Amino acid sequence: MPIQPLIDAATAALTMAETKPPFSPQEARIEASRCLFCFDAPCIMACPTGIDVPTFIRKITTDNLTGAARTILEANVLGASCARVCPTQMLCEGACVMLDLEKDPIQIGRLQRHATDHVAAHGIDVLHAAHTKNGRRIAILGAGPAGLGCAAELARLGYSVTVYDKQPAGGGLNTYGIAYYKMRPQVSLDEVRMIERLGVEFRYGVEVGRDLQVADLDRDHDAIFIGIGLGGANRLGIPGEDLPEVVDALDFIEWIHTRPLDQVPVGRRVAVLGCGNTAIDAVTQAKRLGAEQATIIYRRGAAEMSAYPFEYELAKTDGATFLFDATPVEVVAKDGHVAALTLAKTAVHEGRVSVVPGSEWTEPFDLVLKAVGQEKQIGLLGRLFPGLKIDSRGRVEHDPTTMQTSLPKVFVGGDAASGGREVVNAVAEGKKAARGIHASLTATATIGPVQPSRFGMPDGAVGSGFDHPIRVHELEAALTQG
Ligand SMILES: Cc1cc2nc3c(=O)[nH]c(=O)nc-3n(C[C@H](O)[C@H](O)[C@H](O)COP(=O)(O)OP(=O)(O)OC[C@H]3O[C@@H](n4cnc5c(N)ncnc54)[C@H](O)[C@@H]3O)c2cc1C
Repeated sequence: MPIQPLIDAATAALTMAETKPPFSPQEARIEASRCLFCFDAPCIMACPTGIDVPTFIRKITTDNLTGAARTILEANVLGASCARVCPTQMLCEGACVMLDLEKDPIQIGRLQRHATDHVAAHGIDVLHAAHTKNGRRIAILGAGPAGLGCAAELARLGYSVTVYDKQPAGGGLNTYGIAYYKMRPQVSLDEVRMIERLGVEFRYGVEVGRDLQVADLDRDHDAIFIGIGLGGANRLGIPGEDLPEVVDALDFIEWIHTRPLDQVPVGRRVAVLGCGNTAIDAVTQAKRLGAEQATIIYRRGAAEMSAYPFEYELAKTDGATFLFDATPVEVVAKDGHVAALTLAKTAVHEGRVSVVPGSEWTEPFDLVLKAVGQEKQIGLLGRLFPGLKIDSRGRVEHDPTTMQTSLPKVFVGGDAASGGREVVNAVAEGKKAARGIHASLTATATIGPVQPSRFGMPDGAVGSGFDHPIRVHELEAALTQG
């Protein structure tokens, strides 16, 4: 049977409600006043974009919400979405000294949301483009967090920036891939509009490699930034994989972002293959959209799953079930639709997974979501950029300080460089690449670390791998002239 939507709009509004709702002004002030405003605060060091957390929190205590948002957005232009989607337990909040005092960490993510929501709600722009353009043009491939981080920083430094994306709207996975109960796509779209107001031009519906060739960009641009992320789900390579109800988990999540919630088709019995954070997002949302049973099937044991422990706990609370040490060997069809999975037990020997012979059994499922990792875009990148070095794990090779690739005019960031991390890493790398581009194109090359010291940018020179002096104060001046 083809799958159908299972719940009505009123139920979906409840089950898909945000898991971290906003603070009231009073709650925000009380939470902010718990902060110890540590010198050399570990939360700053734990943030890949180096947001000066104690400074923005102190501004909240004095109701200076615009100032707080400025502190956040100058370091991380996607501060509003990171406030919602960052695994803060593993980053800033995980580093909070309150934990050493055996107290709850400061809720930095929710405070960050409080400040950034204020400027978004009141239409206040705290970032500005440079007063004058420097005459240089940069092309950015991909309007995801990496491309946006790079574009905003370059616009603030005086560059003319054009971003190309194959989707009809910007934001990348922030708009199309994040679990709906963590963040509404509108937050991401609002961030894109804020970057548009910095003078960045966006060209949507343009697939690089099909509609546009790099040779065209190379002629008209001084540098190119690759921020195209990763591709679709890896193939399973088993019979029945091409049945209509075997769906890439990313496509399922995109349905949730692009249709009314009561029109998202879901199976009654859903199998999710894989056990990373994408699998958790898929299984929890399937449950919340009405699946009677949603099961994660993972070929290794619980100890080896890559999902964060708090995501695993969330999925269990939502009623998801887990089948470890098992793998599908065939998708069974009835009348052209998915009816069941034939599964087999697995064994791990010297790190390699194998099927235990004779252990097969069959379980009924009507939707199979593939969350077994995303393909790397190796073929596309090889065709677009002959000579671009790509490592054995499919990541574009780069200088970690400047994000410059093996081709001097080409820079990279985000999942295309890392193989897949978090939104905040992608923004940080985009920003780092913008500074790398600026350093490579200007005679008085300037670059600073993405992580600032306690009081913003450190003074004086820092090492960078460049063979010319690095003057951070010049970069800072260029960024603040806007
Ligand atoms: C299901 C899922 C859930 C996630 N949840 C979280 C989370 O809760 N918190 C978190 O911090 N991180 C999360 N992540 C990770 C995070 O979304 C990524 O690390 C981040 O989006 C990477 O940014 P990026 O800009 O490198 O790539 P992307 O966000 O993938 O953006 C790449 C952009 O390039 C465009 N593009 C690709 N190819 C072309 C082409 N040929 N021509 C033109 N445009 C092209 C795409 O349309 C896209 O807009 C999640 C990832 C997934 C898959």
